[in-house]
Amino acid sequence: LDVPENPIIPVIHGDGIGKDVGPAAQQILSAAARATGRDISWMRVYAGETAREKYGEDTNLPDETVEAIREHRVALKGPLTTPVGAGFRSLNVALRQTLDLYANVRPTYYLDGVPSPMKSPEEMDMVTFRENTEDVYAGIEWEAGTDEVEQVRDFVEQDMGFDETMHDGPIGIGIKPITEKGSKRLVREAIDYAIEHDRDKVTLVHKGNIMKFTEGQFSEWGMEVADEEYPDDEVFAAPDSLWETQEDIDIPEGAVMVEERLADAMLQWMQLRTDEFDVLAMPNLNGDYLSDAAGAQIGGLGIAPGANFGDARCLAEPVHGSAPKRAGQDQANPTAITLSGVLMFDYIGWDDTAQLVKDAVEETISSGKVTYDLERNLEDAEKLSTTEYADEVVS
Ligand code: NAD
Repeated sequence: LDVPENPIIPVIHGDGIGKDVGPAAQQILSAAARATGRDISWMRVYAGETAREKYGEDTNLPDETVEAIREHRVALKGPLTTPVGAGFRSLNVALRQTLDLYANVRPTYYLDGVPSPMKSPEEMDMVTFRENTEDVYAGIEWEAGTDEVEQVRDFVEQDMGFDETMHDGPIGIGIKPITEKGSKRLVREAIDYAIEHDRDKVTLVHKGNIMKFTEGQFSEWGMEVADEEYPDDEVFAAPDSLWETQEDIDIPEGAVMVEERLADAMLQWMQLRTDEFDVLAMPNLNGDYLSDAAGAQIGGLGIAPGANFGDARCLAEPVHGSAPKRAGQDQANPTAITLSGVLMFDYIGWDDTAQLVKDAVEETISSGKVTYDLERNLEDAEKLSTTEYADEVVS
């Protein structure tokens, strides 16, 4: 994406540890931009707790914030807290839906020096593409006892084979919409990424054997994209990959193979055969779980970056949440949000700035200077606060 030479980049620090890691990431990313002859004008915008403080109790996501991201096209965001069970709907989901940021992209690669199950880049270098606007995360659900639930109650009870004793109990209901458009554009993004980055394989991860008309359709629509929109020698659709071993599939030389895996088994493969996977594409819920699990393989949420992409728009944000227990203590690891900034730099073509940040982070960690989350698994490491770590990366 083309941006002005000295772009204005909106930044939401976020809730909880966002207040610690947001400013630290800004410091590192600004320093790298300056060191490569560029300049960022950060524009502080608000969401969540800070928005409520500034705009009043009822405002979680001010229009100014959404408009700033819409206008400037790239933005950086820290985590936002979502109450469980009741209260307002997820602001993260609202932002992704309002701005139609349909692909949540999370690379999982080994960083030198990080204490993790993976010990080299060859063992794991995976990128997950998670559909970001649909599925059970669309937030279409009804509380037990509401009129909407009562209207479908008989149908649900019959279909689930409830017996008499269960009839009077409360039921909560949610809807899982998966569209052809949403599935196809996500899979297209994943395939285009694989082609551009010389990757061998795109794996569609779904539970279509159980959820036939939602996740099953996702995989069929995804295979259609692979089969109909690209020549076979560029992209090869392998819809029988669930039942055949890879050696039995005849893939044209140099083509990206599009295969499929069931989501539950995939969680196992992600622990056992990390080197076999490349680019993964999946519906929203699977993507949320699988990308966290992938993050654990390379050192945990403190270093796992991500970004949300729409058409000509990027909102970079770490995989992790607001970790309330660590909030405001200058302890949390700012690497995840900083490396999310690297994805944003890649997107605007600042390759040398992106590389500099990655190198500086890697050098700092491999010298044993780390935050608490990595220190506890490393011998002879020096435990730094968030701000000390940011200073170290900058220097
Ligand atoms: P979390 O990611 O906030 O934290 C889980 C644990 O991971 C923490 O207790 C901590 O031990 C560790 N951790 C996470 N980030 C870290 C960092 N940068 N440095 C060091 N350790 C880190 O997940 P949670 O506890 O399930 O969720 C807390 C809140 O965050 C919830 O309100 C949830 O809705 C929200 N959340 C927001 C986002 C988002 O904004 N995109 C994503 C996930 C969760």
